Amino acid sequence: MGRVLIIGAGGVATVAAHKVCQNPDTFTEVMIASRTEKKCIALAEVLNKKYGTKVKTAQVDADSVGQLISLLESYRPDIVMNLALPYQDLTIMEACLHTGCNYLDTANYEPKDEAHFEYSWQWAYRERFEKAGLCAILGCGFDPGVTSIFTAYAAKHHFDEIQYLDIVDCNAGNHHKAFATNFNPEINIREITQKGLYWENGKYIETEPMEIHKPLTYPGIGPKESYLLHHEEIESLVINYPTIKRARFWMTFGQQYLTYLDVIQNIGMSRIDEVEYKAPKADGSGDAVVKIVPLQFLKAVLPNPQDLGENYDGETSIGCRIRGLRDGKEHTYYIYNNCSHQAAYEETGMQGVSYTTGVPAMIGAMMFLKGLWSKPGVHNVEEFDPDPFMEQLNSQGLPWHEIHDGDLEL
Ligand code: NDP
Repeated sequence: MGRVLIIGAGGVATVAAHKVCQNPDTFTEVMIASRTEKKCIALAEVLNKKYGTKVKTAQVDADSVGQLISLLESYRPDIVMNLALPYQDLTIMEACLHTGCNYLDTANYEPKDEAHFEYSWQWAYRERFEKAGLCAILGCGFDPGVTSIFTAYAAKHHFDEIQYLDIVDCNAGNHHKAFATNFNPEINIREITQKGLYWENGKYIETEPMEIHKPLTYPGIGPKESYLLHHEEIESLVINYPTIKRARFWMTFGQQYLTYLDVIQNIGMSRIDEVEYKAPKADGSGDAVVKIVPLQFLKAVLPNPQDLGENYDGETSIGCRIRGLRDGKEHTYYIYNNCSHQAAYEETGMQGVSYTTGVPAMIGAMMFLKGLWSKPGVHNVEEFDPDPFMEQLNSQGLPWHEIHDGDLEL
C-alpha cells in the first residue's frame, strides 16, 4: 500500500519499525535513515530476522535540508515518520514540501538554544502543505498523540460539551537505576524543568516548576504523587475544543527522581548554553579550550533509555479524565491505557515509554496510507476521525479502557 521512511533509530523509532514490519499489507517498503547508519543497519538486521522484511537503510543529517532533499528524492516515500528529535521538525517538513512527501511526528518543534516548545512554528506551514496537497500529522505519539485522540473520541461519542480535561501520565515502572530518563535525556530534562502551565477560563496560568502536585489513583497501580506540567497537546486541544474551561497535564515522579533532578539543576548540569572547558590535547602538548553544553554532556553519561528495557518492571498508565455535559447533565469519563514494560521489551526490545510512543506513530502512518487520515494541511491528531485509530490501538498492543461517571479526583 505504501512506502515509508523512518528518520531516527532510537527507542521510539525501533518500536515503530517493529510495528511497521508487523503490518506488511500497509507498509510495503520500509527505509530507516538516521545520523548514525550503523544503528539503522543493526535494527534492519533484527527486523529481517524476526519478520523477514527487507528494510533499506541510509545515513542522513536531518539538520540539513539539502541532505534530506537528496534522500527523499532518491527514495520517494509516501510518508516520512520523523522519529528523530524535535530540533529536526522544521528541516524535515521543509524537505517534505520540496519533494512532495507527507509528514508525521511525535513532538513539536523546539529550537536547540531555547528550552521552549510551541506549535506556532509548525502551524506556520499550514498554507504551504495545503497548497501542495500534502498532509502533515503532528504529535502522533502517546502524549501528545493518543491523549488527544482519546479527547476527540470522548467528544464524538460521550459529550455534547467537554468542560474540564485532565491528562494523567503515570510511569509506575522501575528500571532499577539510580537515575535515568525514559526517553531522550536532553529533551526530557528540558521539558520537565520548565515552568508549569495550564489553561483556565480562556487564559494560560503559569506556575513554578513542580509547584502544584497531588496524589492521583491510577488503575491497577494505586496512588502516585502527580505533578502539573506544561505539555504541548493542551495548546491545540483548547483551540479545537473551545468549550474547555480548564485543561491540565499531570505526570508522576518518585521522590528520588526529583531529588536527582534538583541536584542536576543546582549544579548547573541542566544548562543548555555553551560553557568553556579545558580538555587535554591528544598529543599531550597542553590543554585546548573546548565548548560544551552541560545538558548534552549529561546525556552522554546517563543510561541510554534504549538500554533500560531488560530489567524494567511495572507499567505505565496514561489517560484522560474528562468532565462535561451530555443532554444537559454533568458526566465524568476516564479513558486510559496501561502498558507493561516487560511485555513491550519482549516484543520489541524497548521499554514501555518507547513502546507507547512508537505504536501510535505507526498507527498514524497507517491511517494516512489507508486514506483514512489524509486531508492536506498541517493537522494535530484530534482533527481526524478518532474511530479507526482507536480500533487499531486495541489490536496493535495498546488496548484502552473506560470508566463512566466515576470519581475523577480532580
Ligand atoms: P533517542 O534519543 O533514543 O533517538 C533519537 C534518534 O534520532 C537517534 O537515533 C539519533 O541519532 C537521531 N537523530 C538525532 N539527531 C539527528 C539528526 N540531526 N539527523 C538524523 N538523526 C538524528 O530518542 P527517542 O527515541 O527516545 O525519542 C524520539 C522522539 O520521540 C523525540 O522527538 C521525543 O521527543 C519523542 N517522544 C514523544 C513522546 C510522545 O508521547 N509524544 C514520548 C517520548 C518521546 P544518533 O543515534 O546518532 O544519536
